[in-house]
Amino acid sequence: MSHLVHRSLRQDPPLALRGEGMLLYGQDDRPIIDGSGGAAVACLGHGHPKVIAAIKDQLDRLAYAHTALFSCESAERLAEVMVGHAPGGLTHAYFCSSGSEGNEAALKMARQYFLEIGQPQRTRFIARRQSYHGNTLGALSASGNAMRRAPYQPLLSPAFSHVSPCYAYRDRRDDESEAQYVARLLAELEAEFQRLGPDTVIAFVAETVVGATLGCVAALPGYFEGARAICDRHGALLILDEVMSGMGRCGTLHAWEQEGIGPDIQVVAKGLGGGYQPIGGILVHGRVIEGLSAGSGAFMHGHTYQAHPVACAAALAVQAVMAEEGLLENVRAMGALLERRLVERLGNHRHVGDIRGRGLFWAVELVRDRATKQVFDPALKLNDRVKWEAYDRGLACYPMGGTIDGRQGDHVILAPPYIVTAEQVDTIVARFGDAVDAAVAAAG
Ligand code: PMP
Repeated sequence: MSHLVHRSLRQDPPLALRGEGMLLYGQDDRPIIDGSGGAAVACLGHGHPKVIAAIKDQLDRLAYAHTALFSCESAERLAEVMVGHAPGGLTHAYFCSSGSEGNEAALKMARQYFLEIGQPQRTRFIARRQSYHGNTLGALSASGNAMRRAPYQPLLSPAFSHVSPCYAYRDRRDDESEAQYVARLLAELEAEFQRLGPDTVIAFVAETVVGATLGCVAALPGYFEGARAICDRHGALLILDEVMSGMGRCGTLHAWEQEGIGPDIQVVAKGLGGGYQPIGGILVHGRVIEGLSAGSGAFMHGHTYQAHPVACAAALAVQAVMAEEGLLENVRAMGALLERRLVERLGNHRHVGDIRGRGLFWAVELVRDRATKQVFDPALKLNDRVKWEAYDRGLACYPMGGTIDGRQGDHVILAPPYIVTAEQVDTIVARFGDAVDAAVAAAG
């Protein structure tokens, strides 16, 4: 057995030895097509020469300098690229090493903002059930993921409460239109503000498109406009977690661009560095920065490895390649093809309840019974079975659900790198379809 603490302490995973474009190679040198970029991370695929060259170049010049004394060129340039043109009024960026750290920074900056502007009574956050914002205690407190919360419940912060997500497939009632369902959710959010006392709320926290916990669930039209209006009415901030759904994954650089609103603080991570270095961050609206600047003039938070020179150099190269190679266009075109192929192959499958997503961010929700939407027994670990059946067929995909909340079915995410070709989309869907057939047959 390995000495490394793996996700499972009973079974060691196979080793990945190298990656090239869309392919990963393991011990047996068998090519595995990367159908999900890990957890929607590897947006450029593997081994991109320009990113590797940028990392090497940064290492040759400077690996590390502490931010208490220095800034560095790559971090300054990355901030300029991300918010120099003030998208949605976002003017400043802070970089850290993961999505969880990004969420911690967002939560703490939001709280500090209200302290600085003379509203210290704002101490509460409203987040959503069946959400995931990270595994550190603050981010986990925001998360509504019941399975991940359960062992640590006594340690989680009581400053967070949770309202329903916008999950039309399961939660919209048959006698309700989409607009009525959205209105019901917004009434629930408003009621939560009222229950807590609207002037005690710091922020509403939501994933723009729900990733791991629900499986690529975008909100219905009007939902985020309504949520933004409620936050504005009560003077609270809107924090959008785009760790998974952002940085091009949904077909626009930011997923919120498709919602007609913008956040006060946006959390980014996976597609920022594409897995070449660990990096996450927050993008912050000018008004929040103004509040902090006029007050103490400092962000009372930080990490030894914040704005790390090598991580920022990698992210800078990833973003440059995305722009140079016009990859957002490919995300939109190949995303439309992926949807079409998934619907052709699995749209009428008796165990496929829903196929949903945006851009190159798609999930298939598996159910025992399509008519009743009854889920498979979580003990069957169907999503895990799909993962291994797919792996045997030369496909890596990202399975979740089942045991997360006891309510949603198992789902599997397909989120190929933005460089995927039409032929590779066909291969991914063919292997995935066969893996689903095999897994449900084995599950009985
Ligand atoms: N937020 C979202 C929406 C995520 O999907 C994730 C990771 N799956 C996180 C936060 C946490 O990111 P990390 O694992 O990098 O800490």
